[in-house]
Amino acid sequence: MNVYTELDVDGYERVVRCDNSAVGFTAWIAVHNTALGPALGGCRVWQYDSEEAALTDVLRLSKGMTYKNALAGLSLGGGKGVVNTDLSSVNRKTLFTEIGRFVEHLKGLYITAEDVNSTVIDMEIVKKQTEYVATVGASGNPSPFTALGVYNAILAAVKYKLGRDNLAGLTVAIQGVGETGGRLAERLYADGCNIVVADVNVRNIEVLRRKISFDLVSAEEIYDVECDIFAPCALGGILNNITIPRLKCSIIAGSANNQLHTEDDGYALRRRKILYVPDFAINAGGVINISCEIGQQYSSQKAREATANIGKTIKNIIELAEQQKLPTNIVANILAEEKFIKESLPKRKAV
Ligand code: NAD
Repeated sequence: MNVYTELDVDGYERVVRCDNSAVGFTAWIAVHNTALGPALGGCRVWQYDSEEAALTDVLRLSKGMTYKNALAGLSLGGGKGVVNTDLSSVNRKTLFTEIGRFVEHLKGLYITAEDVNSTVIDMEIVKKQTEYVATVGASGNPSPFTALGVYNAILAAVKYKLGRDNLAGLTVAIQGVGETGGRLAERLYADGCNIVVADVNVRNIEVLRRKISFDLVSAEEIYDVECDIFAPCALGGILNNITIPRLKCSIIAGSANNQLHTEDDGYALRRRKILYVPDFAINAGGVINISCEIGQQYSSQKAREATANIGKTIKNIIELAEQQKLPTNIVANILAEEKFIKESLPKRKAV
């Protein structure tokens, strides 16, 4: 049986812990902000070192979703679920049945979806317990839309920084060619870019090798590649005081979450005159696609059009950053906050 405990966390609308020792998991749902709509965010399954680590993760990730959803112009707030368990020792069907009940417990304040270690198949089990789950229906794999959003953002950044309307002849160094980086590589190659790749997974390199030509460098060398665009599409925290001085690019634009080690690294990039396209602005294509199946008939055409708007958002961020002489990550934060904080304020009557 699930046992629920409400936690009082400053700055968060609702944080609930769920304990089910019979099935063998603990889980948290954090709802950061619902000013713009119900909180959408995936359900991550991980074996954390401690309860504190799981709670820290769910708080960080749910807040990030508020910013991402707000900046993307979605009528959705930010939330996240994390499940602390050892997947090899639990019955997956039982686990996700109980997670479905946990999501239902919040009565629509939080809408879940797949994430690290949870799949569309798991979400189908969740769906038997609650209607508050996305990515079961027609929208499918979000990665093609994330890659499309990154591509649109690159077009906008290149136009601004390099004054070019096309990408032919530009060199792009891509860190990680999995679900998103691989698709991005294919698109950029089709546009005539020279592609340089690093990946630690040989299989993903081989898959891409069958589709396009590229130069391969080691995971460590990717930071030293002379290129126009560096596209981080793997890990978080890779833009830091060790890697930033090494970069030889004009633009950073990739799908990875939490690319900056700290917000201050955005200032370091600005000082180096490298245009950084903020991660939660550029990688919103997946969540935009998912949003198109919430409360409406899904249309991939509509999802593609909405994803194309990422280019406009990026242009706006870059121009404001130039006007205000601020790093782009700071401007993106401000623009997102303007949307959800304004909506959070109590409405006052005009006098
Ligand atoms: P993925 O697992 O399919 O691909 C990641 C690739 O990076 C893999 O091929 C992996 O081998 C490689 N990699 C890992 N460590 C590396 C290293 N040190 N150097 C070089 N390559 C390395 O993941 P994905 O779905 O493409 O997501 C990539 C990033 O984008 C993640 O940070 C993810 O959170 C973020 N993101 C993805 C989506 C989406 O729709 N898939 C949406 C938003 C954000």
